[in-house]
Amino acid sequence: MHRLGMLGGMSWESTASYYRLLNQGVRERLGGLHSAPLLLHSVDFAAVAELQRRGDWPAAGALLATAAQGLQRAGAGALLLASNTMHKVAASIEAAVDIPLLHIGDAVGQALQRQGVQRAALLGTRFTMQEDFYRQRLAERFGIEVLLPEAAAMTEIDRVIFAELCQGVFQASARDFYLACLAELREQGAEVAILGCTEIGLLLEGVRAPLPLLDSSEVHVAMGLEWLLAS
Ligand code: GLU
Repeated sequence: MHRLGMLGGMSWESTASYYRLLNQGVRERLGGLHSAPLLLHSVDFAAVAELQRRGDWPAAGALLATAAQGLQRAGAGALLLASNTMHKVAASIEAAVDIPLLHIGDAVGQALQRQGVQRAALLGTRFTMQEDFYRQRLAERFGIEVLLPEAAAMTEIDRVIFAELCQGVFQASARDFYLACLAELREQGAEVAILGCTEIGLLLEGVRAPLPLLDSSEVHVAMGLEWLLAS
């Protein structure tokens, strides 16, 4: 297996789960003492979140592009960026290295396509839900129509991500609120809900949801595993 580079820390709560799932996946497939050859560049999320808040995406892109170059120099043969939101700057990262970025939107789109889904609800940060970079990729490459929560619900979903989930706080109040949003989106015709933020799966783990869930972290890890095991 070649080395897989991870850009993580956004937040480390979900990066830790990527690390565990990648290693578990390799052990399940290869057995014994096998584990995943990984290189991790874990950033200080406070700095990245501040750039997001200020809308300074060029600086955020430059920060991750430099980190990606470091991972390539250290021998990574491909990259996983463990945040949906930061795929907004995927092009800056791709332009800075000669190795592939395994795109989370493609992992989600391919999984939805395999399931024959046409209309999917999307929960994520305000950037992921409201801006074009994520929804457009799903629409243009995979023909998926994305349904969003109403404006006030999006504000609260986003607040919970930064004020709670990314700080390791997983509360019943947030769980109930997210489930109520999902019930509403099912009424509007969503067949599946994309958990388009890598921490939401941690909040909804083991919960009975009103519609099937597609966890972006899970399918992204599966894409990383496929690359590792084929390399
Ligand atoms: N991990 C999150 C995501 O998947 C949110 C943190 C961030 O803004 O990068 O979008």
